[in-house]
Amino acid sequence: MIEASVRELACEARLNLRHLPEYMDSIADRLQSFEADASHHGRRIDFRFAFGDASIDMEQLVMRANAAGRDGLARIKDLLATAVQVYAREENPEIVWTGDLSGETSLAQFREMTVTGVRDLTPHMRRLRFAGEDLSRFAKFGGMHIRMLFPTRDVPDPLWPVLGGNGLPVWPADDRRPVARVYTIRALDVAKGIIDVDFLVHPGDSVGSAWATQAAPGMKVGIMGPVGRPVRQADWYVMGADETGLPALARLLETLPAATRGVAFVEIADDGEKQEIANTTGIEFHWLTRDGLPAGEDKLLAEAVRSVTWPQEGSAFGWFAAEAAAAKIVREHWRGALGLGRDQTLAAAYWRRGAAGLMAG
Ligand SMILES: Cc1cc2nc3c(=O)[nH]c(=O)nc-3n(C[C@H](O)[C@H](O)[C@H](O)COP(=O)(O)OP(=O)(O)OC[C@H]3O[C@@H](n4cnc5c(N)ncnc54)[C@H](O)[C@@H]3O)c2cc1C
Repeated sequence: MIEASVRELACEARLNLRHLPEYMDSIADRLQSFEADASHHGRRIDFRFAFGDASIDMEQLVMRANAAGRDGLARIKDLLATAVQVYAREENPEIVWTGDLSGETSLAQFREMTVTGVRDLTPHMRRLRFAGEDLSRFAKFGGMHIRMLFPTRDVPDPLWPVLGGNGLPVWPADDRRPVARVYTIRALDVAKGIIDVDFLVHPGDSVGSAWATQAAPGMKVGIMGPVGRPVRQADWYVMGADETGLPALARLLETLPAATRGVAFVEIADDGEKQEIANTTGIEFHWLTRDGLPAGEDKLLAEAVRSVTWPQEGSAFGWFAAEAAAAKIVREHWRGALGLGRDQTLAAAYWRRGAAGLMAG
């Protein structure tokens, strides 16, 4: 449903790209994965999102966005500009939006948040509560995650990003730039202006985990979002997660319809990491423990998910979030061996052994 507002907001940007038609399949595929309906009209493709409309015209070399509200317009500009920058990277596209809100410099998807609560759920899972203003957009668009912007030892007093003329964030110079990591909104209360994030406290030199370890009420952090694609509705799910995917999996089990069926596996270090999950669905829940093996070295989770037989009838979805190697095993099984499509599966790498800041860029 399009947001209610006084009048429609509209803007456009020229696309001086020599090879636009060559990128269009990838651009359209990406936009459709954010639940846009696409329709072709000669050399123009129109996209209808829940929060507004967009079109890319390969003849006139222009893209257009319109929405009933500021959040919707900012979201569409961001999705279009990101898709063009990703797939037309070789042509180094210069995007300049004109029209409504084109002079805007505040970033619609950014909020400064203040820590208001710290609680250890288990020896290695710390729940932080954050307070901020006007959090309604974090309940929109179907994305469950945020990019969190942290101060670090080298940049203790960062500057936050602003909105550029291309519809994307403009970052300060390196000596004031915060460091980003991706986290899940475990719980959101728009009316009270609070979000909860569960941080896994893991070994090694880090930004997010290190910050969470010494977080205290009053400390500031930036968040941007929501990010991520909506999880498809289905009658039956097979799910798998390690500790980093657990906040998202737990949120799904609390919010999917009660009639939903399936099976979910969560890998944790040991029994001490078990926590209360308010599973209100008919999805069977199983803990798997590594019992001494380092995170990311155990194939138990991937094997458990692979061993599940998918139902013959009704709609089904596979959702997986864990270390990159495990995600690859599951993705190859679902997409390759079982021949399932992107609309039935999401196997995501939430971190990679030995690599810092996966997916945070
Ligand atoms: C969509 C999405 C949602 C996510 N949600 C959450 C969430 O809600 N809670 C959460 O805790 N994490 C979550 N993650 C994972 C988190 O972003 C990564 O674990 C990230 O690397 C943490 O940043 P860091 O600064 O602590 O460590 P980094 O600086 O990125 O990494 C430092 C070192 O620690 C290692 N490392 C990173 N993560 C782990 C780990 N889990 N176990 C062991 N070693 C690790 C790295 O391999 C590297 O060697 C999510 C990731 C994605 C993509």
